[in-house]
Order: sequence, then structure tokens, then C-alpha cells
Amino acid sequence: MTLNSGTELGNAGANEISKVEGERPDRLEVVVIGAGPYGLSAAAHLKVKGIRLRVFGEPMEFWAKKMPEGMLLRSPRVASNISDPESAFSLEAYEWAAKIEPSAPLPLDTFVEYGRWFRHQLGSDLDLRTVARVERDPHGFRLTLEDGEVVRSRRVVVATGIGPFRNKPAVFKDLPSEYASHCYEGRDVRRFQGKKVAVIGAGQSALESAALIHEAGADVELIVRNSEVKWIGGHPWLHQLGPISRMLYSSHDVGPVGISRLVAYPKLMSYVPLKLRDKIRKRAVRSAGSRWLPERLKSVKLTTGRFVSHVSVIRSGLALKLDDGSERRVDHVVLGTGYEVNISRYEFLPPELVREIRQFGGYPKLTTGFRCSVPGLHFIGATAARSFGPLLYFVAGTEFASRELVSYIAQRKENLQ
Ligand SMILES: Cc1cc2nc3c(=O)[nH]c(=O)nc-3n(C[C@H](O)[C@H](O)[C@H](O)COP(=O)(O)OP(=O)(O)OC[C@H]3O[C@@H](n4cnc5c(N)ncnc54)[C@H](O)[C@@H]3O)c2cc1C
Repeated sequence: MTLNSGTELGNAGANEISKVEGERPDRLEVVVIGAGPYGLSAAAHLKVKGIRLRVFGEPMEFWAKKMPEGMLLRSPRVASNISDPESAFSLEAYEWAAKIEPSAPLPLDTFVEYGRWFRHQLGSDLDLRTVARVERDPHGFRLTLEDGEVVRSRRVVVATGIGPFRNKPAVFKDLPSEYASHCYEGRDVRRFQGKKVAVIGAGQSALESAALIHEAGADVELIVRNSEVKWIGGHPWLHQLGPISRMLYSSHDVGPVGISRLVAYPKLMSYVPLKLRDKIRKRAVRSAGSRWLPERLKSVKLTTGRFVSHVSVIRSGLALKLDDGSERRVDHVVLGTGYEVNISRYEFLPPELVREIRQFGGYPKLTTGFRCSVPGLHFIGATAARSFGPLLYFVAGTEFASRELVSYIAQRKENLQ
């Protein structure tokens, strides 16, 4: 494995950059913003190509600090590998190195530790600071870090995930955080012990949060707008047909029968007309819970076909009014109401730069190499899902994203397109 030879390769990159007229010799070739699965994977692939880079952000911060304690990964083990060029840093390799018994579904803490172990393969190219601002300059980009230091780079790869895209329905928007929080806003579910909690939503996050909060000793009610809760893998026999199942489902297990196969090819997805691509994307990630959840939710009160139409803060907590006129008194509302990609909500992208990025409804329009309409600016992960399909919402998409991105960048070291 050649990843750790980065320093030497980095110097070669510096010489190459300084050949470009008027460039500062300290300019990096690539800055990756975000050290989640996508940022770490892209960096691992860039590094073996000898590209001089730096990754900014705390490794696996979103998974370690924002997801509920005790969570299990929805994706199968085979779809939870963070891609590296030689597949040397797989989940299995980590478990072997850490002497951990492989388990399925995969516990959140194991995945976080796996990501942190993966991060060590990058050596000194990772910087824990966050990026506060990205601006264009004549040779690429000028990035201001949280402490005011300025870094320059020819290219920027945005791999900052879905954190800022939390969707809060209007009725809950103005509530203080002591009364309402989003599923992705905190790790500690034990704070709900002995409390009455309403969980809103019918996706994996809402359903799993409801199970975890219930198991932490709270009195939980799940309130779901749809008439029923859907479960992933409703036809388990379709997964037990050997080679036929492999024709119907890809190993990533994103989407239902047939669609699962299509979304496994993001390049192909990018050629599908947008309207149909959107339809496939939405179908592949529609609200549903894992098959191991119904058992854990057996004693949680479930109200379907209803939504909260009005909320008021009262002396003892919150009064929720549902659309059928019924009322609930609760201490807290947990919103499992998903997220909505909108790159203008990335605080480090100033409005004037966002305006230059061609978009479709908050998602950047991306082409080969995950590049947007601003030369040298690339987006990977969930923000790429409208261009390349729903695989990009998941860790399994790191393989395609990193290979495609790096092959593009490696071939264009001298020109910024
Ligand atoms: C509750 C929940 C469960 C999920 N379960 C699964 C699952 O089982 N399997 C799966 O494949 N996917 C799952 N997902 C989707 C998951 O979010 C993505 O697969 C994954 O996080 C994508 O990785 P990423 O690197 O794009 O984003 P992230 O993991 O969010 O990483 C982005 C990182 O960028 C950092 N960052 C943001 N802004 C800056 C900045 N200005 N400077 C520096 N760093 C910054 C953040 O701190 C963050 O750590 C789940 C999502 C949620 C919310």
C-alpha cells in the first residue's frame, strides 16, 4: 500500500504547481472540505496519485456527534466500506486490525472508529480545523479557516455532508431546542428518560430514534403523516434466490427490486433524463424502516395518517394539536423529518459564489469529475445525488465518487476546468 508515502509525493506536486505562471508556490492542488466518509475516501484516492492536498474537518464528526447513541447502520456491511484505491482499508480490515468480531447490522460506534482508523492512512494531510469561507481568486480558491488563517488551493472538493440541511416543518421552526430537536442534532437519548416524547416521521431516522428513546425509558408516541409505516425488504424471499437475487438487487441494497441495480451505476444514472432520475431517486430513498425495527417498536404508540397542525408552549411542556383536532401533551418533540439539500445553507460558501453555481433546486449541477459550473469546484456525497443518483446519499457511493473525481483531477493538473 502506497498511501503513507504522501510527503514525497506532496513535494513533487508543489514543484508542478509553481510552474504555472504567477502562482504562489505554497498553493495546494486540492483542498477537501469535510472528513466524513466521502472526504476521507477522496483524499485517500488523491494521495496515491501524488496530488498535493489537505483535508479539513474533524474526522467522522457528523457520525460521532450528531447521530443517536446506540444506532445501527441501515446499510449492509458490504455497502459500508469507505473506498480506498486498493481496497486495503475495508471495514473487515479494520475489524481484523482492531480485533473486533464482525457484526451485522453494524453498530454506529464501530463505524465511527472504522472511519477514524481510515483517517490515519492519510497521515499529516488532515487538518482538524473547519473552513469558514471559500472565495475565488485568479488561480483557484482562497480559503479562510476558523482561526483566520488563509490557505490557497487550485481546486476545492466540497464533502461536507447533510448536516446543515436538516428539515424542520414550519410548525416546529420557532421552538427552542429544549422543546424540539432534529434526529440529527444530538447523540444522547438518555436525556429523555422518564419524559413524554413525540417522534415525527416514518423514515429510518424517526423509527430508530423512537426505538432508542423508548428503550432509554421515555413514553414515546410516533406520529406519521402517511397512512402506514413501510419496512425495507418487504419481500425477503426475493433476496434468497441466489444468482437471480443478484440480478434483481445490487449489493449496495439502495432501492427496491430492479431500481437497486440501476442506481448501482451512477454514471448511467447521470444520462437518465432528470425527471425520471428524480423519480428513481425519490423511490429509492422513500421513508421506510429496517426490518429489525418493528420488534423494537412493538410497545411504542403509533399514530398514522396524522400531522401536527399547531404547537404551543405550555407550563408543563408542549401542547400539540393534530389535524383531527386531538391534542397531545409532551415534554419534547423529536423531528425525524429528513433533510433537504440546499448548498446555499453551507455557511462557508458566500452568496456571490453560490450564485455562480448552476443548480437544480439547491443541488449543484455536476458533470464529469463531479465538477460544477465554477471551474475547480467539485461536490461529492449527498449534494451530487441529483446528478448521479441516490447511491451518492450513502457510503457505498464513495467508490464511484472518489474514482471519478480523482481520475478527472489527475488528468488535468495543469488546467483548471
Ligand atoms: C441517522 C442517519 C443514519 C444514516 N445511516 C446510514 C447508513 O446506515 N449507511 C449509509 O451509507 N449512510 C447512512 N446515512 C447517510 C450518511 O449521512 C452518509 O452516508 C454519509 O454521512 C455521507 O458521508 P459524507 O462524508 O458525505 O458526509 P458526513 O459524514 O456528514 O461528513 C461531512 C463532514 O464534513 C464536516 N464539515 C462540515 N462543514 C465543514 C467545514 N466548513 N469545514 C470542515 N469540515 C466540515 C462535518 O463535520 C462532517 O463530519 C445516514 C444518515 C443519517 C442522518
